[in-house]
Amino acid sequence: MNDFTWLFLLTLALSTGVHLWLDQRQWRHVAAHRDRLPAAFAGQVTEQSHRKAADYTVAKVRFGMLEQLIGAAILLGWTLGGGLELLDSAWRGAGLSPVLTGTGFLVSLFVVGSLIELPLSAWRQFVIEQRFGFNRADPGLFIGDAFKQGLLMVLLGVPLAALVLWLMFHAGALWWLWVWVVWMGFAVLMIWAFPTFIAPLFNKFSPLEDQALVERIERLLARCGFASKGIYVMDGSRRSSHGNAYFTGLGNSKRIVFFDTLLEHLNPEEIEAVLAHELGHFRRSHIRKRFMLIAATSLTGLALLGWLIDQPWFYAGLGVSQASLWTALALFLIVSPTFTFFLQPLMARVMRRHEFEADDFAAEQASAGDLVRALVKLYKENASTLTPDPIYSAFHDSHPPAPERVANLMARVPG
Ligand SMILES: [Zn+2]
Repeated sequence: MNDFTWLFLLTLALSTGVHLWLDQRQWRHVAAHRDRLPAAFAGQVTEQSHRKAADYTVAKVRFGMLEQLIGAAILLGWTLGGGLELLDSAWRGAGLSPVLTGTGFLVSLFVVGSLIELPLSAWRQFVIEQRFGFNRADPGLFIGDAFKQGLLMVLLGVPLAALVLWLMFHAGALWWLWVWVVWMGFAVLMIWAFPTFIAPLFNKFSPLEDQALVERIERLLARCGFASKGIYVMDGSRRSSHGNAYFTGLGNSKRIVFFDTLLEHLNPEEIEAVLAHELGHFRRSHIRKRFMLIAATSLTGLALLGWLIDQPWFYAGLGVSQASLWTALALFLIVSPTFTFFLQPLMARVMRRHEFEADDFAAEQASAGDLVRALVKLYKENASTLTPDPIYSAFHDSHPPAPERVANLMARVPG
């Protein structure tokens, strides 16, 4: 225990407190508007779906409060509670080389962390999603997914952790710069590999068969200056009835993916408008800007870690008695979100501005009216609240509140 312990405890108490305060604001605000459908949506959303969205939002936010408390308890357990210390002495006792000891320690930390998280995500899927009719997965599929994710974590995590630790041991004073280069390379590799190798492990992707829709999409792509590298339908309905669409990948692996559940609910004009919004994120350089933001943040973080690693109070203050490169890395990864929590409103603000810009792009390249109709259908199908608490939304939401987003688009409907 030292001064840093107190700073950590104070920050953890403050971030947990702010989190819970925002959650209860959202809970109360949504519940208070349960019987008051905003006028802008009258006739498009029924009173019944509005009430369902309120109940679903409240159920999720209440469970989120419990998760927040559990997360804080787990973090305390790993640090001051001696969890990391225990795991570290177990791996040190195995008599492996330092790089392998550290790799085993880091990978087992993340595997244990995901095992603890598993019952929470099972509750979300089989209790909350189930209650509101969104769950389509059975326990077999859920366990299979968890197993595959764990295996992927080990297969990708072992070489990555070993390489990072090797650089920390052997690359000299500027190791953090080299680790950053490796980390960025890994991120780019994942963006490239995700659509081609990883996503197909969990879902089936089949080429979009509706020829009229394919031609409509290709006209839109040509208009926006994109080459089509494949338009796919994903069997999202295997797990959930929530719908979505995304545009992903890098170079030749770039592809457009529609969830089958999205195609079920939207007509071709609306699908085109949703895709135009996604293309807007590329054309307005949002993807590149977000990547650069992540690159800058991780460089700052690693430079900070490069300094912290030589500070004895950093380890002692967080419950680790024997300083090592891997415990420093682990402490940094699990503790830093507590401190960066307070930057979240800034990030959310940037994301919301990007959403408005992508909507404006869609209004130019497709139709604002169709995008509004698509959004309203998606809000309804996904039971998204139309009445979020303004402060909660400013802090957390990566998308503007429904009424603001629709109003911005309606101002762009011609005539
Ligand atoms: Zn968007």
